[in-house]
Amino acid sequence: MTIFQRILDGEIPADVVHEDDLAIAFRDISPQAPTHILVIPRKPIVSIQSAEEVDQALLGHLMLVAQRVARAEGLDDGYRIVTNIGQQGGQSVPHLHLHVLGGRQLTWPPG
Ligand code: 5GP
Repeated sequence: MTIFQRILDGEIPADVVHEDDLAIAFRDISPQAPTHILVIPRKPIVSIQSAEEVDQALLGHLMLVAQRVARAEGLDDGYRIVTNIGQQGGQSVPHLHLHVLGGRQLTWPPG
């Protein structure tokens, strides 16, 4: 079981900023920017790579939750949505999540 599943199940605490039937969003425990929030589906999809056609609406919902969270955080000058996939993508938790990063000037390319 992943750490995010344990957060979903209420077994370990998280600073939750959004919750609905399909998704939750909570602050990253190790923030890489002044705002660093993770948006995850309740459905245990490993990553975008294992999402299926049936998940299409859910994936769109996650993006709109990310937008809503960014707005609530006041990230009016811009922000970044990132999802890491697999080992070379730098994914460390095998439960799909969108990182919402903002509150400082972000650079490109990423590391
Ligand atoms: P990944 O590296 O898989 O793209 O992102 C996983 C993220 O989850 C990391 O940014 C990491 O800091 C965060 N994270 C790992 N464990 C916990 C936890 O127990 N609570 C919270 N809030 N974030 C976590």
